[in-house]
Amino acid sequence: MRAETEPVRFTKPFTQQEPLSEAAIAAATEVMRTGRLHRYNTLAGETGEVALLERDYAAWQGARYCVAVTSGGQALQLALRAMGVRDGAPVLANAWTLAPVPGAIHAAGGRAVLVEIGPDLRIDIDDLRNKALHSGARFLMLSHMRGHIADMDAVSAVCEDAGIAMIEDCAHTMGAWWRDRRSGDFGCVACFSTQTYKHLNSGEGGLLTTDDPEIAARAVMMSGSYMLYDRHGAAPGPEAFEPMRLDMPNLSCRMDNLRATILRAELPLIEGRIARWNALYAALEAGISGAAGLATIPRPEAERMVGSSFQFQVTGALAEDVPGFVARCAARGVELKWFGADRPAGFTSRYDSWRYLGTAEDLPKTRAALAPTLDLRLPLTFEPADATLIARILTEEAAAGAPARPATAAAE
Ligand SMILES: *Cc1c(COP(=O)(O)O)cnc(C)c1O
Repeated sequence: MRAETEPVRFTKPFTQQEPLSEAAIAAATEVMRTGRLHRYNTLAGETGEVALLERDYAAWQGARYCVAVTSGGQALQLALRAMGVRDGAPVLANAWTLAPVPGAIHAAGGRAVLVEIGPDLRIDIDDLRNKALHSGARFLMLSHMRGHIADMDAVSAVCEDAGIAMIEDCAHTMGAWWRDRRSGDFGCVACFSTQTYKHLNSGEGGLLTTDDPEIAARAVMMSGSYMLYDRHGAAPGPEAFEPMRLDMPNLSCRMDNLRATILRAELPLIEGRIARWNALYAALEAGISGAAGLATIPRPEAERMVGSSFQFQVTGALAEDVPGFVARCAARGVELKWFGADRPAGFTSRYDSWRYLGTAEDLPKTRAALAPTLDLRLPLTFEPADATLIARILTEEAAAGAPARPATAAAE
């Protein structure tokens, strides 16, 4: 406890999203009144809400096909299976990602080959090129982790040279762009999450988009469509299903009409929300820029980001006591997550805690990039003034950090 003046605290929760829009609540209520919550439970001539969502989302993303499923992780898994990953096939993946990504590779039967990230938190192009050429991998699962889009020109060139098919994990880049193309338009398949903490909130949910009719047909069958694939909203015609429909397992991960209704009502609101997220991000970035011991992450010119979370790095003496800094900020109500921690906590884990992957490989660049990296959520229940206050607390606690270090820690 500090003696004289009580330091200012931040009091809003970092996990509180906005309520759903009244339009979404009304539409969801309407669906509940019909009792037809299963996506294939339609009246004659009726198009179900999930099919309509698939149509809306495909049009918005600019993809030919879309399949709605129960989670982003399930979308990743279907994407991998639909592209033929099985039997230990190596799959390249940037090592900084969320646990459902290696989980999806594992579940599909693939073998994750983790690729280093650089100090800017994006996939390391040299390591990608090296592993693309020497690991035997035919697939890359690229996570745009926390919204940091890789250099897509370079990644695409490496994939093309090495004959690698890319799957984009756009859980944090729904609505983001690289140059004049949406994130998700670079690979063979893109996967999105509509879990509460992402850019659209239906509690849980996932969307898969692709322009490839074979991949789309396989994903539809595996999502659990029985022989009702004609009730999909943005799927290829029956000719795509005829040759393969008896060869696809039903993995039963369909989205339901209730969630689809919510998402359809919320999708038109996303651009306004992106502007608000980016205003929060900008306020935070401006608030800590130049602060002793804190560094912002440079964002490439070509990226049009969605700032739904904020990452920064600690430098100098502060980097030697990250847990102390995190604890001081927490005491003032600012919840930071540390991806560099040796032990996984909450949603946050480092690649070396996915022990089931069986890859004992050390990734020194990734560990070096994550060691000073801190992360915080920016829910839309925050206002720019909140971001400014958070920045002030970070700045003050960073300044308080260095001189307060115990003598033992300073000894080396
Ligand atoms: C959330 C997330 C996923 C998976 O989404 P779920 O819908 O929770 O399964 C995949 N990748 C990243 C990077 C995520 O943050």
